[in-house]
Amino acid sequence: MSELQTYQGAATMEKITSLAKRRGFVFQSSEIYGGQNGAWDYGPLGVELKNRIAQNWWKEMTQLHDEIVGLDAAILMHPRTWEASGHVENFTDPLVDCKKCKARFRADQIPPECVSAKKCPECGGDLTDVRKFNLMFKTHIGPVESNDDDNVIYLRPETAQGIYVNYKNIIQSNRMKLPFGIAQIGKAFRNEIVTKNFIFRTCEFEQMEMQYFVKPGTDVEWFNEWKKRRWAYYEKLGVKMDHLRWHQHGADELAHYAKDAYDIEYLFPMGWKELEGVHNRSQYDLTRHTDYSGKDLRYIDQDDGNKKYIPFIIETSAGLTRTLLMTLCDAYDEEKIADKGAEDDCRAVLRFHPTIAPITVAVLPLQKKDGLADLAQDIRAELREDFATDYDQGGAIGRRYRRQDEAGTPFCVTIDYETKENGSVTLRFRDSMEQIRLPRGELASRLFQEIKAYKRTK
Ligand code: ATP
Repeated sequence: MSELQTYQGAATMEKITSLAKRRGFVFQSSEIYGGQNGAWDYGPLGVELKNRIAQNWWKEMTQLHDEIVGLDAAILMHPRTWEASGHVENFTDPLVDCKKCKARFRADQIPPECVSAKKCPECGGDLTDVRKFNLMFKTHIGPVESNDDDNVIYLRPETAQGIYVNYKNIIQSNRMKLPFGIAQIGKAFRNEIVTKNFIFRTCEFEQMEMQYFVKPGTDVEWFNEWKKRRWAYYEKLGVKMDHLRWHQHGADELAHYAKDAYDIEYLFPMGWKELEGVHNRSQYDLTRHTDYSGKDLRYIDQDDGNKKYIPFIIETSAGLTRTLLMTLCDAYDEEKIADKGAEDDCRAVLRFHPTIAPITVAVLPLQKKDGLADLAQDIRAELREDFATDYDQGGAIGRRYRRQDEAGTPFCVTIDYETKENGSVTLRFRDSMEQIRLPRGELASRLFQEIKAYKRTK
């Protein structure tokens, strides 16, 4: 059975792309000019979802670990950084073009027999020789009259290097002792040869990276520990765990500096694809930055007779925008429902974990009239300090629930005539569609409790 046939979810890329646009999660960049390839804009629901995924990861890495601190380094770095890191020389993809249909491919992403026979996998035409293509975006800094090579600067292709060049600063300013980590979320840019599958592979994207510095000899243990922790993170986020698997880099994939590397792959509608990398980067990065900067980046181990050594680095590197695509695919569900008497009514629902849902609670008055709208606004005002809220008073209540289901809102609060009489409200749960009544004054504490106890069941 092919990998695609084992896909269990209701999501297809067409459905996800169209829902993302229709509901304002993601728009094509510069759409009115025909769109910009490899770039996407995050709309009102998308930016909330992205921020929440980022906050959730940040909390997991920094708030929950004493020994991990944060950093926000600049996108523009000294060009020597990229010589030291090996990107100028090695950050290349093998590129081939079809002479007949003009399609462009990464030679490592098409069947090897096509490359050896030099035949296009799409039209059978002749392929060009494989050539190396550097993925870094190159630009110039300062006033440049001609194409002055002296003023070349790159947009960073990964956030990790900003961490390595600040490693010594952070040890000194924060008195860090091994093992310790530095976490960073930020934009990265790669001139990708093929950008397809919506926001999966783009030229401008965001990464969530954490570099963990450890004593040589303890790296294998820490590598295994971080594999465990990253797996547990997705479990906590309520991701379908049978849609995740480990892929160990074989000898042909392993970067020359890496001692060991595993990817966490997710079963996207288009197949198993990398979501995050967990890598044992050995002493490579700090050794190279020592050589290229001339600065001594050895750690002085006060707990071990002031021995000096270059730490090993364990890296966890996830794409933020790719994780957003994963959560859309993972959360997407279609369900036949029979409430309100409509037998074959079907709803599309995003079953986001409440901690990342763009809207946590929507407040809906049953009717606009008779003071219900004012009452609902009043209740919303009470909730909005603590929760991301939405308010919707237009149309049939069933249709309003569907709209919130499709936006992934885990809770709806409905205000009706009984609310006016006795102050009770209806709390409706997205996943089960169950409804309970409770006093208005208990709403906030109940929501906190529900968010904390949330377990995905469907
Ligand atoms: P690939 O081989 O698929 O090009 P990679 O193995 O070079 O990717 P890494 O350098 O390990 O990727 O990047 C770490 C993470 O950053 C990836 O797991 C992915 O989630 C994210 N990422 C990398 N490139 C892109 C991109 N072009 N668009 C979106 N996310 C990306």
